[in-house]
Order: sequence, then C-alpha cells, then structure tokens
Amino acid sequence: MGLKTGSKKEPAFFIYKHKNQLMQQNLIENLSRIIARLPGMGPRIAKRIVLHLAANKEKVLSSLIENLSALKEKIYHCEICGNLDEGMICGICLNQNRDQNLICVVEEVADLWAIERAENYRGKYHILGGNLSAISGKTIEDLNLDKLYKRLEKEEVQEVIVATSATIDGQTTAHFLAENLKKFRVKITRLAYGIPVGSELDYLDEGTIAIAFKTRSKL
Ligand SMILES: [Zn+2]
Repeated sequence: MGLKTGSKKEPAFFIYKHKNQLMQQNLIENLSRIIARLPGMGPRIAKRIVLHLAANKEKVLSSLIENLSALKEKIYHCEICGNLDEGMICGICLNQNRDQNLICVVEEVADLWAIERAENYRGKYHILGGNLSAISGKTIEDLNLDKLYKRLEKEEVQEVIVATSATIDGQTTAHFLAENLKKFRVKITRLAYGIPVGSELDYLDEGTIAIAFKTRSKL
C-alpha cells in the first residue's frame, strides 16, 4: 500500500513532519542545555528563554545575535587588570582621574561591576579570574597573579584592597595574597565583614553575627 514507507506503517508526509519536529526539538534542547550552563541559569529558565527567542525572532533574536557577534569580535581581557572591555586596555585603566595609588583585587569582572555600581571607590582594579578552590581545582598558577606582581613593581601603588568573597575559598585566597604581597611594601587591607545594610539581626546566620562582633568599630 502507498501509505507504507520502509518498516513503519506511517504516511510519508507524517514521517517528514515528525523528523522536522525532532530536529526542531533537538535544536531547542541543545540551546537550552547551553544556556542552562551559564551563571545563574537553570534548565527551566533556559528553556523559557529559548522558546521566547524562537517566538520573537525579528524583535529579540536578531538583535541578540548582532550583539553577541559584536561581543565576540570587540571585547577583550584588559592586558593590565584583566577586566573585560572594548580594546586591549580597559576604560578604568586608561582613566587618569582614577586614584592611581589604589588597587582593588577582586575574583571576577562581575565583582568589579558590583563595586562600580556602589559609586564609592575611585581607584583601580585587578581581576584574579577566580579564587583558590579545592572544589574547582583552581591553583595559584590559574590566577592572574604575575601581572599583579608586575604592577606592584612598576606602578606607584600605596594600598591593595583585597575584595575576595566572604567564603572559605575567598578567605583562603585573601590570606594567600596577604602573605605574598608583603614583599612589595604596600598597605594591604580587606573589605569589612558584617551586618548587611537594612537587615535585622534575627534573620542573620551565626557566622555573620560572630564576625560582625569581631570586626566591631567605635561609634
Ligand atoms: Zn584594565
């Protein structure tokens, strides 16, 4: 009979449609898996994003592709500090109005942006590219340290502010930096731990309260 194709008893047009659906499904699944691996994402939100993009090809997807392509072509790691920006040297390193005596050491570029959002710090930065972590397997060699040491030799830096995370890995990295930067005769400070602005004591964990007591200051 004409409706039989190969070993399956299905109409040819149905198989064709079915195959197309499978391909489409794979495309959506594959892209969802890629997006799900991005920081802060999960499988459900990734799938929603992909479906939203597929449903809004002209309005959203085209502009996203254009911007992603520009990101690939024009964004570089700054040769001095490791920040991400257009050009080989980032805007912060090029800015002569920033305080040249201060370097704030952070783990990731996102941390730099968080500090910039507070509009309080006007010095320069150095991005380590992670922290010393037994879980991720990052070691001293993996961090952007050689360039930091060279900067401390060449630039007129008076203070290095260690702004690593308040996690065990962040603290391990901070202690390592404190030990290794001693030879450069710069003042080494680190961000204070304590009670977040706008929070109530009752809702804080014991670790935060304990360290807030240790680092209490005069009123
Ligand atoms: Zn830079």
